[in-house]
Amino acid sequence: MKISMAGVIGAGTMGSGIAQTLATHGVEVTLSDVSEEALARALDNIHSSLSRLAQKGVLDLSTLPAILARIRTATSADIHRHSQIVIEAASENEAIKQQLLRELDGIVPADTVIASNTSSISLTRIASWVSHPERVIGMHFMNPVPLMQLVEVIRALQSSDQSCDTVMELARTLGKTPVEVRDAAGFVSNRILMPMINEAAFTIYEGIASAADVDTVMKLGMNHPIGPLALADLIGLDTCLAIMDILHTEFRDSKYRACPLLVQLVAAGQLGRKSGHGFFPYSV
Ligand code: NAD
Repeated sequence: MKISMAGVIGAGTMGSGIAQTLATHGVEVTLSDVSEEALARALDNIHSSLSRLAQKGVLDLSTLPAILARIRTATSADIHRHSQIVIEAASENEAIKQQLLRELDGIVPADTVIASNTSSISLTRIASWVSHPERVIGMHFMNPVPLMQLVEVIRALQSSDQSCDTVMELARTLGKTPVEVRDAAGFVSNRILMPMINEAAFTIYEGIASAADVDTVMKLGMNHPIGPLALADLIGLDTCLAIMDILHTEFRDSKYRACPLLVQLVAAGQLGRKSGHGFFPYSV
């Protein structure tokens, strides 16, 4: 199915990036959030991001008004009534996602594809919350969405080939490279990334090296564009900890136990860039 009308739920970091990317590629977008403020901030951020892309010559400045005009916003999910696909990008909280998907189930037709951008919640469990669970699929965009090439497409146990084909095709339309994976905790991306970040935290916790030196080893020695600790600060240490805890709970394997330093930093409110301090200090 070729998508020309898409809904996005949640207008935070990811939802605004997803809405911007869809609109840039000619898709009519409805964007909803419980917060008016989040919607206003999202439109502001989209405008700034598009302007930056135009300054860099990636986008033609004259296309900006048309792109922005393709995004309609509302605080009610009712706005998604005519969407062919709805991409859920609300806060990473299972109770919130369950409630909003149950509500959405009563709004959209039975053949609307329901995609979730969750980083860690089981797609099979998410699919069980709605009628016609075969239309549920994971569409895991990377941050920042307009720039990052990958979309991890996660098949729930119930996902149909048709739902999978629809999001694979949509990802390609958006200029992304989709990779299809089966539903398992952390998928592929976070199953590999989060233990690496956690292990980097252990090396400083055990006094083996400083945070700056750990990142230098991974950048210069392994050719990573950003060190694991700076990346953790960018993602948010609370998010990293939540994902490690999910890996630990789901696999029941001690190799996924969170580093005590990560736990302490989160308890101290040092969450990374967003709070001004994580493994490194920032000026917010
Ligand atoms: P965020 O906190 O920036 O934004 C979440 C938004 O959801 C907020 O604006 C909030 O008001 C809104 N929201 C909460 N409850 C809602 C509801 N019932 N209906 C509508 N909107 C609601 O979070 P984010 O970083 O954009 O993450 C969103 C999702 O994307 C999460 O599932 C997260 O795991 C996933 N994700 C995040 C990243 C990342 O790097 N930040 C990367 C990949 C995937």
